[in-house]
Amino acid sequence: MLRNDQLDQWDRDSFFHPSTHLAEFARGNLPQRVVTGGSGCYIQDRDGTRLLDAFAGLYCVNVGYGRSEIADAIAEQAKELAYYHAYMGHGTEASITLAKMILDRAPSHMSRVYFGLSGSDANETNIKLVWYANNILGRPEKKKIISRWRGYHGSGLVTGSLTGLELFHKKFDLPLPPVLHTQAPYYFRRPDRSMSEADFVTHCVTELEQLIETQGADTIAAFIGEPVLGTGGIVPPPDGYWPAIQAVLDKHDILLIADEVVTGFGRLGSMFGSDHYGMRPDIMTIAKGLTSAYAPLSGSIISEKLWSVLEQGTDENGPIGHGWTYSAHPVSAAAGVANLQLIDAQDLVAQAGAVGAYLNAAMADALKGHPHVGEVRGEGMLCAVELVRDADASVFFGADEKVGPRVAAHMLEHAKVIARAMPQGDILGFAPPFCLTKGQADEIVA
Ligand code: PLP
Repeated sequence: MLRNDQLDQWDRDSFFHPSTHLAEFARGNLPQRVVTGGSGCYIQDRDGTRLLDAFAGLYCVNVGYGRSEIADAIAEQAKELAYYHAYMGHGTEASITLAKMILDRAPSHMSRVYFGLSGSDANETNIKLVWYANNILGRPEKKKIISRWRGYHGSGLVTGSLTGLELFHKKFDLPLPPVLHTQAPYYFRRPDRSMSEADFVTHCVTELEQLIETQGADTIAAFIGEPVLGTGGIVPPPDGYWPAIQAVLDKHDILLIADEVVTGFGRLGSMFGSDHYGMRPDIMTIAKGLTSAYAPLSGSIISEKLWSVLEQGTDENGPIGHGWTYSAHPVSAAAGVANLQLIDAQDLVAQAGAVGAYLNAAMADALKGHPHVGEVRGEGMLCAVELVRDADASVFFGADEKVGPRVAAHMLEHAKVIARAMPQGDILGFAPPFCLTKGQADEIVA
């Protein structure tokens, strides 16, 4: 075993941590938490401190930590066949089985699954496939993609552009030109406090229609959105939002990409957010919950309509020139199969719905009337607490006050509960594993 001070030194000298204030880390002002174990909803660090992980890692360890069924499936696959590629028609029993299991759970108009490794690369694949299809269909000018401010779709060049959060653009020369942004359905921060929810939906839809008209529908290929905005603040859509958006997209022949990286496989208490909100996507992005993060794996679920264009296109153009070495990696696929089996066997989607509803109700109840709580909102096993300076007058804290991060740090220190200070605004996010009990929900609220 390495000494702690030795490990800390190597950490500071060798490790480039993602999404981290590098200078503060170097100065020793950020915690160096070395995580050593996990079981159920808890992780443990090297000092033996046990923390209730109310964000399931990065809302990905959906079935909870320490699931030996998945670990065993990974080990068996690695021993049997650690790797073979999926190019030119190759596959493994695990990857083929998993594709079938995903389609069995997806809306019936979905047709094929393309596997990647991360949510970011899956969204990158989606945009490329949409462009490819429009070139095949003889409309090469129909390429722009509309995303929403506050949306999160990844950190790549195109996906970082789709992401509508300033932190992910600043100094990176993003967003790139094929991406346009429109307003998020964030009712709490509506432009006018007197607006009803229905009026706000009309307002969002009108803005989208105006953008389409200004740009020209024949230049716009797709609209991408998370069923519930995640990293941008955990914001469920107002009633009627998705059907109204869907109608505009259908009218203008614009594809819908449902980014289900967070919502896929049960987090809302339904298998997919698309089912939950009556969306009819042409592509669905999946990642996190597909393996509950036991191994990296993502996917693009493609509709029959889009698939037939892609398939026919190869007769004229040859094989699709898009592939990752690790597409459909057998070890990750084995983790995915075991994960989905476990979710079924323990009825974890229903548990996420039921305990998530309990958590949201208990949180709202406990914080009702609190002068610094503007709103408690959520859906299924997603919950957010919006902190404000003055709840009555809807006055927000200044960004430099860092109230969200301070409250999260306080919860960690005093209650040993991990909440996530969402990256924009003073929002505390909760997205626990689906195996959360009501007692653990009470612990988070307390
Ligand atoms: N899409 C959504 C909705 C996400 O929440 C995330 C990550 O949090 C991504 C895409 C990107 O996934 P990854 O971090 O695996 O690249």
